Amino acid sequence: MEILAPFPEVTEAIAQVAGQTLRICIQCGTCTGLCPWNLVKRFSPREMIRLAQLGLEGFESEALWNCVTCNTCVQKCPRGVEIIDVVRSMRAIMNETGTIPASLKGPLGSLASRGNPWGGDRSERIKWSEGLEVPTYGPGTEYLLFTCCTQAYDPRNQKAARALVKVLKACGVNFGLGWDRESCCGDACRKLGGEELFLRLAQANVALFEEKEVRRILVASPHCLNAFRKDYKEVDGRLEVVHHSVLLANLLRQGRLELKKALHLKVTYHDPCYLGRHNGIYEPPRELIRAIPGVQLVEMKRNRDESLCCGGGGGGIWMEVPSGERFSKLRVAQAEETGAEVIVAACPYCVSMFEDAIKTTGRSESMRVMELSELLSEAIED
Ligand code: SF4
Ligand code: SF4
Repeated sequence: MEILAPFPEVTEAIAQVAGQTLRICIQCGTCTGLCPWNLVKRFSPREMIRLAQLGLEGFESEALWNCVTCNTCVQKCPRGVEIIDVVRSMRAIMNETGTIPASLKGPLGSLASRGNPWGGDRSERIKWSEGLEVPTYGPGTEYLLFTCCTQAYDPRNQKAARALVKVLKACGVNFGLGWDRESCCGDACRKLGGEELFLRLAQANVALFEEKEVRRILVASPHCLNAFRKDYKEVDGRLEVVHHSVLLANLLRQGRLELKKALHLKVTYHDPCYLGRHNGIYEPPRELIRAIPGVQLVEMKRNRDESLCCGGGGGGIWMEVPSGERFSKLRVAQAEETGAEVIVAACPYCVSMFEDAIKTTGRSESMRVMELSELLSEAIED
């Protein structure tokens, strides 16, 4: 089908990032039908794709910034259109003209000047680990435990990072921490269309990893996992990267992770988009949870590749979303339907989003969110 293109040069620029699949969208609307935004308001990725095919017109639409890059549409598109790549390339054009939502300017500015989106000092990047006596990565260390920016600077997520250290030590993993010269993995930056800045962050990290001869990286954030695994290929990153849930499930099978303390909890597990739909990791976290004595794992109606996004990906964590439109609120209600008292997440963004949703919906007395490592650390005998 010949596409009418009033601004063909723009269409071409988008196609360069998103690939030629942009041209073969048949406007079937499957993406729109599945997009979680339609649970709270009208939003049409199909129309966005059409605008991308046609050129710049309509780009000023706020809708462009709604996409949380959850991958629901991409995995079901019958033509294999790389919808998220289309979104980020359209956003890149908006970045060039400086027309981005006000709430994103702070995080992007902080990424440029401090190497993290949270306004934290570089010198305090590893401060979360104080008192834990974790060595710095060096010759002979097996894994670099890469610090996610959210775990580095957000007090709630720092607890999860500390719990992971406890679990790794209990298993006898040979790991070390990085340096304050580490930068953000750049995942959200890239999804927000900050391509140039992403490349700068990624190149700085790759150069640091090469200087320190790092080959195996352990991450607690599925966003870091995705960036190192997929995006860094474009900057010559030859890294072996593993999410903590996968490493710990392997250690459990080997008998190195012993979960002996009974917890007597009913929990449900939330599949983070970047662990599940983006990277196909569904079972290792469940295997770990089921191994804890006394813990009953119950599933939400939407689980595994149908999991409902927490709303934090693709820069969503910084977007000002009206209270009634937050996916995290819908998700904690779905968790509540299972009768679970704990919602377990394996992603720092999900932890933040659910903490907020539990508080703002008045569920603090009946429900809590735990990062996977926190749950595991409680099941390890001191
Ligand atoms: S699901 Fe794919 S082919 Fe259908 S409208 Fe969306 S992008 Fe186009
Ligand atoms: S990636 Fe998710 S939020 Fe973005 S358009 Fe697709 S379904 Fe909607």
